[in-house]
Amino acid sequence: MTAATQPDLTDEFTLPRYRMVELLRDKYKIADERVLDAMARVPRHYFVPEAIRHQAYKDNALPLALGQTISQPFIVARMTELLELKGDEKVLEIGAGSGYQTAVLALLARKVFAIERLEQLAAEANTKLRSLGFRNITLKAGDGTNGWDAYHPYDAILTAAGGPEIPIPLVLQLKPGGKMVIPIGADQRSQRLCRIVRTERGYTQEDLGPCAFVPLIGEHGWNK
Ligand code: SAH
Repeated sequence: MTAATQPDLTDEFTLPRYRMVELLRDKYKIADERVLDAMARVPRHYFVPEAIRHQAYKDNALPLALGQTISQPFIVARMTELLELKGDEKVLEIGAGSGYQTAVLALLARKVFAIERLEQLAAEANTKLRSLGFRNITLKAGDGTNGWDAYHPYDAILTAAGGPEIPIPLVLQLKPGGKMVIPIGADQRSQRLCRIVRTERGYTQEDLGPCAFVPLIGEHGWNK
């Protein structure tokens, strides 16, 4: 563990958080104990808007500021599990939003670089992650569809917004054998969750079923 987030057994959200983890295990069949442990440790209520804090551990996505959403806990767990992190990885996250997924990744990998398009969300996420004691996260505002060249290659990339096709700069910034999970589709109704594995000369692609994410807006995504 590189972050300061310890299980807090005192707050009113402890029980709902453990129930959320039980649901991830029993209903959604999340099997990676490290992922379940990280989800049990990160205070999700801290990342959702104050007015809906009491809903933080419900089994659904929740609205964030500026029309964005914090993904359903199951989606966070599933995407994270698909990256098969062991603890020593350098991870790139596109679409950090509230910073919740960023925190989960930071408990499971050595270092997380994260990009969020909207300045306000990036600033709020940075403040929260810092106040929780995370020291292995570097988060900036910007267009993540170009990746973050300065720190590549990455062992894993998680993209939490959906584009029309695989952004090639992201594939190029993966190590051979590195994995990326990303929603792809012509519109929100036809999005599919994809896992890419970088090979020496190209990449392989797996289809992991339907999903619904906010649009990935940028040079290698949608233009609005
Ligand atoms: N994982 C986030 C989910 C946020 S929703 C969470 O747990 O809160 C997806 C985010 O992707 C939105 O905040 C949106 O602003 C952001 N986004 C969309 N296009 C982007 C791009 N090109 N680069 C970086 N972030 C982007």
